[in-house]
Amino acid sequence: MSRLYFDYNATTPMLPAVRQVLAALIGDDTGNPSSVHRDGRQARRLLEEARRKVADFLDCDQPEISFASGATEANNTVFHSVWKSRPTGRNKIITTMVEHDSIFKPAKRLAERGAEVGFISVDRAGEIDWEAFSRRLDERTLLVSVMLANNETGMVFPVEKIAEAAHKVGALVHCDAACAVGKIPISFKELGVDFLSLSAHKFYGPKGIGALLVKKGIHLEPLLLGGAQEGNRRAGTENLLGIVGMAEALPYAIDNLEGENKRLWCLRQRLKEEIVRVEPEALFHEHARDQLPGTLNVAFPGLSGQTLMARLDLEEVSVSYGSACSSGTLEVSRPLLGMGIPEDEARSSIRISLGRMTTENEIEGLLEILSRVVPDCHPRRERGLEAGIQSRIKRAAGAGFPLGGLRSGRE
Ligand code: PMP
Repeated sequence: MSRLYFDYNATTPMLPAVRQVLAALIGDDTGNPSSVHRDGRQARRLLEEARRKVADFLDCDQPEISFASGATEANNTVFHSVWKSRPTGRNKIITTMVEHDSIFKPAKRLAERGAEVGFISVDRAGEIDWEAFSRRLDERTLLVSVMLANNETGMVFPVEKIAEAAHKVGALVHCDAACAVGKIPISFKELGVDFLSLSAHKFYGPKGIGALLVKKGIHLEPLLLGGAQEGNRRAGTENLLGIVGMAEALPYAIDNLEGENKRLWCLRQRLKEEIVRVEPEALFHEHARDQLPGTLNVAFPGLSGQTLMARLDLEEVSVSYGSACSSGTLEVSRPLLGMGIPEDEARSSIRISLGRMTTENEIEGLLEILSRVVPDCHPRRERGLEAGIQSRIKRAAGAGFPLGGLRSGRE
């Protein structure tokens, strides 16, 4: 049986169309986009064509885009550059408890350098502590950074409203949209933020490429010093292959987003219903209204999320325990703890994330495997589960879903 991939929030499979474009480009062997001769001009044309496409899809102006190696670099650039050029009297940074480490760690670093950093909590229903946010926000605030969608839970945050409030006190606003681009409609203009970070591998593009959008008129010091590339905001010869691949992937990722999200929502509902049957005490970490349809974070109380992930891996299923960047460690998920979720519950959670290539058959395959593996990891409930498993198998068979020999939709 092919592997079943349910870790789209960690990374997405690269599109065949992107592979083809990249293969052709490698064959052509382009020049350096900064060279003035014909080879260079040709590379520059490809680069600027990619920039035009990305600008179109994200509703920003072309010069507002700085290509970078990904969201980690973009996030670090914003924190360090904004801090370096801060005006006197502004030393406060506000972010949330549920951000990715590429925000959390730079924020901690700046706190060591004298920034007054406030980490705002988010409750288990996904609501930002607005009172705490409003209390902290004042004329001394330099930067507010809030992610658009959380990579572990799929909760979507009210960035537009946050940006409006932050701008009233003259603060700059950054949004880590790594887990949102390609999953929900995004307009840089409408979001109203000053900076936005993204990574192409989260939307079927190549790994190691992304962008930082910087609002027109805002000066941003480069993190790396060197050449004058990317409007002097990011030194270093551009990753042309990655950039062209990213521009090729974006239209696919956002094509018919509404229809795709409805489809994913149905698959997610199906997963939830059956998980509750297998594990009646399952706890879902999700937002009641603003939730990415392809992300399901669920706790199986009394069971180790890491063990479950490892068992599923042996069964040829990829899910995640925490974010991919930290799932190799034994650390409990900081974002889940930041939502007030007890440590035991956080440790018993896994993330199942779906995407464009996820099929109904794959969902049925996962459910069949979960119904065997969960009781195995959790023997004291074995008896009660048996009835649930049997009824599920009957229902799946009735619906015409094969339970064995499933093929991955990514092939
Ligand atoms: N922010 C979020 C929300 C993410 O999910 C990730 C990737 N896990 C990043 C930033 C960092 O992205 P990259 O590793 O591509 O730099």
